[in-house]
Formats: sequence, C-alpha cells, structure tokens
Amino acid sequence: MTDVEVTPGSQAALRRANQQRVVDALRSGGTLTQAEIARGTGLSPASVSNIVRNLRAAGTVSVRETSSNGRRARAVTLIRPPGAVVAIDFTLTAITAALGDSEGGVLAREAIAYDVAGDPERGVRRAVWLVETLLGRVRVDRRTVVAATAAVPGPVDLATGEIGAITCMPRWAGFRPGEALGLRLGVPVTAENDANLCALAEMADGAGQGREHVVYVRLGQGVGAGIVVGGALFRGAGGTAGEIGHIGLDERGQVCRCGNRGCLETVLGAPYLLDMLPHQGEGAPGSVAELVAAAEKGDPGCRRIVAEAGSALGRALGVLANTFNPELVLLGGELTEAGEALQEPVRRSMELGTLGSALARLRIERGRLGDDAALRGALLLAARAAANM
Ligand SMILES: [Zn+2]
Repeated sequence: MTDVEVTPGSQAALRRANQQRVVDALRSGGTLTQAEIARGTGLSPASVSNIVRNLRAAGTVSVRETSSNGRRARAVTLIRPPGAVVAIDFTLTAITAALGDSEGGVLAREAIAYDVAGDPERGVRRAVWLVETLLGRVRVDRRTVVAATAAVPGPVDLATGEIGAITCMPRWAGFRPGEALGLRLGVPVTAENDANLCALAEMADGAGQGREHVVYVRLGQGVGAGIVVGGALFRGAGGTAGEIGHIGLDERGQVCRCGNRGCLETVLGAPYLLDMLPHQGEGAPGSVAELVAAAEKGDPGCRRIVAEAGSALGRALGVLANTFNPELVLLGGELTEAGEALQEPVRRSMELGTLGSALARLRIERGRLGDDAALRGALLLAARAAANM
C-alpha cells in the first residue's frame, strides 16, 4: 500500500488525513518506531518522517533515538497533554477555533467565514459548534479541555467580562462572550481584547521576545493597541487601555462612532480608507488588501491614502511614545502589507511629534506572527489559566 493519489487541490486535506493516521496508530500502539508507523499506516517512510517532524514541532509527540534489530531507529510517543486548551478568535467576518497543548502551542485549527457582528448569541453558538467540529476531527475528548480564551475586537471590562460600548461590533456592546461560551463549553472561558492577545503572543513567540516595553498596534476595521509595560500587559482600570483609535487628531474631521470628531480611526479604519477612494465602483479596490496592491502598482490616489494613513498613525504613535516610552512598536493588520509606503510616513510624522529621548531607542516593525497573533495569544492565555488551576 502506498500514499493515496490525489489531485493538487486536496493536498492539505490529504496531509491532515495522513497525520491523523499516524496519531491513531500511536494512540492504539503506544510507542512505535517510524518504520513500525510506516508499516502500520501504509504511508511511505518519507511521509511518516515528515509528519512526525510536524507533530513534534507542535508538541504532540516526543521522539528519541533507539535501535531496532541492530539498526538505528526513532521511537515516537504520543504526548497526551495534561489539559488541552481552546482558543476562539472572533473577527468581523470569521470565527477561528484552535486546540492547544499545555504550553499554548497550536495542535489543530478550524476556521469559517461568518458575519460575527450580526448577533452575539448566534455567533457564540456557531463558535461552540466550530470547537466541537474541531475536537471531533482530531478525536480529542471534550472533557480533556480545561480552559478557553476568546479574542474579541473591542475593549473587555476586567471585572464583568462585558464588551465595552466602543467596538466595531455594536450589537456585542454589553454582551459577556466569556460567560456565554463557558456555559456551553463547560469550562472557564476568558474573553480578551484581540490587540492585547496579539501583544502577548508577539512577546512570547514573536518579534517582542526579550523586550519589556512594547506596543502592538492592530490596524483593521478599527485601530487598537496592546500595551506591554515592564513585561506585563497594561490594561488600565477597566480594560479600556490601548483604544488608540479614539485619539482625536482633527476637531473638524469626521464624526466617529464614539461621538468625538476626527479620531485616528476615522482616517485609518478600513471602511474609512475605502470611502476615501477617488474612483469608486467597478474595478476600484474593494478591500484594504486591494487598496494596498493598487498603491504598490503606482495608483496615485491609493498611494496618497496609504501615505496619509501612515502620517496619522505616526502622530498617534508619537502620543504613545511620549507617554509610555516603548522600545518597540509592532504593527499588524492588512494595511501593514504596504510596508515602507506606510512606515516611512509613520516615521516622518513621529519625528515631528515625539520627544527625541522617546524616539532614540524606538524601533518600528511588523509583527512576526501575522494574522495568527490573536489566536496564538488566546491559546497562551488559556494555557496560563490551565496551569493555575
Ligand atoms: Zn472615536
């Protein structure tokens, strides 16, 4: 028996299926050498070797050198995490669920497109269904899950777990997603602001490693920041710290959903950026990614929009730099794909509005974990909660 022949489109599905065969073999057979796994599953030795390498990187198996019939061999053992953890990332347009090990590493994930802003109760039910689907696929008993964290785009009240009134999902304001998810999943669930989780993940496994004073800025529908001071997340008295999207930049600017005028978000939030396009309609960019691509191709209107977004961001970062004196500002979100076209005006505008001593040691970089940052941060937080149980 050899590996199943497939069409290119189903490569990922095949990889997952083959990985599951290896995990199943280890679950029923205990410790096995790679050759035994290959014989047991019918997979080629090269495939088994690849899969074991990935499983080991994910913390699912341990590998040790041994000998079998006088030959060198590698013995593989399935590590049953003492308590698995779950992360759920809610964005405006999608829900992603991930299963993590006790260290917060990603073991498996599942994502669906979904209109999250619509109705919080329905969103929670859909998320629970997604978690159950994920656990079913990797055959993890729900009872082994001990804690979960949900990433949400908006401030979360520390004491109550309520979503604050200023969020890009107005119908979620006052809702308690942690409580609603916890009731259905049967484990404690913490809801946390997505930018805060991005900051946590970048500090642990990304560009913030070894740093102490870091600001992570997430550019999306709105603009939020996760602020790390002295190695710890700074959340403020009620969890609203980091809502930099509502720093006022122009008192004659557009009215913001928060009620103020000319907030950073009204010049940097995705819907506002798209509204500024000089030529709307057919062929015009319909997303921030398309806007950035058009700017890269030299479209003067799109270049202008990206440059002005950078300048506005630089002014707001200047306020942050003067207040918190971070050593590193990490940028995340689709708009950061613009690279230097965004960062150059950020730096120029920061030079004008920031104290020299605050600017001297400051680096501005893109986050290293990309779109995964919030999900990774949520797994880390859940793993920490599990460790303290
Ligand atoms: Zn505002």
